[in-house]
Amino acid sequence: MSRSQTTIAIAIVGGGIAGLTAALCLARVGLRSTIFERADELSEVGAGLQLSPNALSVMELLGLLPALQRAGTEASHVELKRGLSGRTITEVPVHAGDGTPYLSIHRADLQTVLRDAVEREPKITLRLGATLASVRPGAGSVKIGLANGGDTITADLLIAADGVRSAVAEILGLAPAVPTGTTAWRTTIEAAEAADPFDDGAGIRAWLGPRRHAVAYPIRAGRAVNLVMIAQTDESPNAARNLSAGFSNWDEQLVDLARRASAPTPWPLFATPVSRPFVLSDGRIVLLGDAAHAMAPYAAQGAGMAIEDAAVLADALARTGEPRAAAELYEAERRPRIDRVRKRVGFHRFVYHLAPPLSLGRDMVLALRPKAALRGDLAWLYDWRAPDLTHGHQDGSGPQPSGRTERRAASDRLP
Ligand SMILES: Cc1cc2nc3c(=O)[nH]c(=O)nc-3n(C[C@H](O)[C@H](O)[C@H](O)COP(=O)(O)OP(=O)(O)OC[C@H]3O[C@@H](n4cnc5c(N)ncnc54)[C@H](O)[C@@H]3O)c2cc1C
Repeated sequence: MSRSQTTIAIAIVGGGIAGLTAALCLARVGLRSTIFERADELSEVGAGLQLSPNALSVMELLGLLPALQRAGTEASHVELKRGLSGRTITEVPVHAGDGTPYLSIHRADLQTVLRDAVEREPKITLRLGATLASVRPGAGSVKIGLANGGDTITADLLIAADGVRSAVAEILGLAPAVPTGTTAWRTTIEAAEAADPFDDGAGIRAWLGPRRHAVAYPIRAGRAVNLVMIAQTDESPNAARNLSAGFSNWDEQLVDLARRASAPTPWPLFATPVSRPFVLSDGRIVLLGDAAHAMAPYAAQGAGMAIEDAAVLADALARTGEPRAAAELYEAERRPRIDRVRKRVGFHRFVYHLAPPLSLGRDMVLALRPKAALRGDLAWLYDWRAPDLTHGHQDGSGPQPSGRTERRAASDRLP
């Protein structure tokens, strides 16, 4: 196959949650993009996700919230339980005052909603079976090469949304993601097998114990249950293989779910180094989602942060109209928030995995703390709302920007 030479403005590498959402947010501000996804078809491995109101505010803006609500299950709280006895410690409210829901959903359902929206959007080109193999930053552009003698593409802006093992990061010599010393064991249970634990309409359940915890929630609009068991496995390589064995004397409800679950997959958890930049090559390359800041799922925010990233980057491009200034805005806005979420992840890991007697103190403090205060502790996280992406429309319609930077027309630099 002969190589062809193409010029486009915005290239997105990776058609996962970050890449698809980024393309949709860019289209919303009038910007065209092409997504290069290495897979031949967009299909997600079977597991669930929690999506909190901050992330869902972006989906609402994109007009996708009703479809997600149909596919997911709304949660009003996360129930924290003692691992061994199953006794409820407390319930942390997760709903938002403005009515934005907190959903649990199958990844495949989220992916389908995003993919359908991408296919309906004329400003987005989705290229499947397109693996990025090289990146060459230039003065005012970036050249990317596709594997197997594929095209060379010149882009004004390269958005790396290629996940925790980002090829873009690797090619550019960034330090790789590192193991967190924890392994997740992910599985699903069909509702016929698992109706009991959720027949009271409860949302998310988390069982806490020394060096390990488990989370279960409904997916497929309540037709299945997602079960994740997470354990610190750094001390023994065998611990990952026999992860479920460590839960065998826990709460009967959890053990029962694990017994009915389909074959589990151990999933070692990696995190990108905190020092990884989100922006490279003078703003010509921007990292998004797990490529920028993969984190262990203790706060259930990896996809949420990827979704937020997408909206903030599109907003920054709409405000500034050119990659460099937009990239600066993006990093300035995202870095402090991601750092704060990372701290929360560390906090949850510490608190969830406490052993007695410290866990008894934890349980007492949590039980005594009013539920409104527990929700208040997470206000900074869940009450974040998507920027108003209507202001970037190329036809000039929509409200004017609130103005952290002076806005130029999005069409000044990018198509
Ligand atoms: C056990 C577990 C539970 C989790 N639970 C939650 C939760 O409840 N809530 C939450 O918000 N987050 C959760 N997360 C985190 C969430 O799954 C991730 O943060 C999110 O999927 C990241 O999306 P992404 O698009 O950045 O990366 P990915 O989903 O990894 O997508 C990257 C895409 O890039 C493509 N790609 C890679 N390399 C190339 C290349 N060279 N060329 C072209 N394409 C390429 C891949 O094929 C893929 O499609 C959880 C994670 C784990 C492991």
